[in-house]
Amino acid sequence: MHDVAFVNAHLATMSHGELRDAVLAVSGDRISWVGARSEWHEKARVEHDARGAWITPALIDCHTHLVYAGNRAHEFELRLNGATYEEIARAGGGILSTVQATRAASEDELVRAAQKRLGQWQREGTAVIEVKSGYGLERDTELRMLRAARRLQGLEVKTTFLGAHALPPEYKGRADEYIDLVCDILEEGARLGLIDAVDAFCERIAFTPEQTRRLFLKARALGLPVKLHADQLSDSGGAALAADHDALSADHIEFAAEEGIRRMKESGTVGVLLPGAFYFLNEKQLPPIETLRRHGVPIALATDHNPGSSPLCSPLLVLNMACTLFRLTPQEALAGMTCNAAHALGIERTHGTLEVGKRADVALWEVASPAELAYAIGANPCVGVMRNGAFPRAAT
Ligand SMILES: [Zn+2]
Repeated sequence: MHDVAFVNAHLATMSHGELRDAVLAVSGDRISWVGARSEWHEKARVEHDARGAWITPALIDCHTHLVYAGNRAHEFELRLNGATYEEIARAGGGILSTVQATRAASEDELVRAAQKRLGQWQREGTAVIEVKSGYGLERDTELRMLRAARRLQGLEVKTTFLGAHALPPEYKGRADEYIDLVCDILEEGARLGLIDAVDAFCERIAFTPEQTRRLFLKARALGLPVKLHADQLSDSGGAALAADHDALSADHIEFAAEEGIRRMKESGTVGVLLPGAFYFLNEKQLPPIETLRRHGVPIALATDHNPGSSPLCSPLLVLNMACTLFRLTPQEALAGMTCNAAHALGIERTHGTLEVGKRADVALWEVASPAELAYAIGANPCVGVMRNGAFPRAAT
């Protein structure tokens, strides 16, 4: 006897293709049956008529900076008056203004602001969201951001420690010493159980490959997986560096060289593409989609929600942007926010596909085909989300 069965549904399983007129059953917090309605001879305590809705794995947003204070609408305005992202960063604006606001905010204030934003992800069929630290750049605020992320309700949150996001002004010219501090904060955060993965920003305006390597060795020694903001503004060898450390993902990778991508395939590192930042910064360098495809590197997609370069609160819009800006197929886009996003968080054994034994995280969509999820702009056809085998809230 299953707990719940969705009948009269179509399934985009993301592992075994599409099943029309199918049934998906759930027992406890797991998927317990998937197949054609003609083969369904079992029983469930509760039967939901899905009325022809499509069911997909609930969406997974594998790269966000959701916890922060303030916003950067003023910088947006400056940029439209001619300043570049790098110029703003070098002038001590940009990320440092968010650092100031975040350092000044209490844990409760950070939770409240992030929780409010999170509503949009819930309404758009999301079950898991990754949240990075990286606006404290000192011990107390970094740990406070991670604690705030752990307190968010309604979605499963994976926390990533991004102390090596930018060099704080008080460490100007002393980046190596700052990396020492980041390693210390990492050790404490890991001991407190606040960290699921470790990330760094390896770029000419941030940290060198050598500094990144040092942090990654520390993370691996603590048994934590790593991820990397790599090759966003230039080819700094970030993709290969990520692969060297068996990173879960290398993110951005607009300028990644083919050799780096080949190494990503070998190490099982997912390429995470962030069309929101590409769109918002009006970037011109497309990520190397064809090279990723040719080498069979899984492509994930994420909002990269952050106040500076991607104030994007819509996972569904990510699907559309990935197709319109990067020419991904709708099928690739959906994989990018389900099964491949699960890979990018190291939770692929339990999340991201509709298979028996996987976590019962599913989204119901009133669409005629899954491609419609990537096709529409600004629509939200989500008619239900189940997370952990339960309905956390009625979707609207
Ligand atoms: Zn990011």
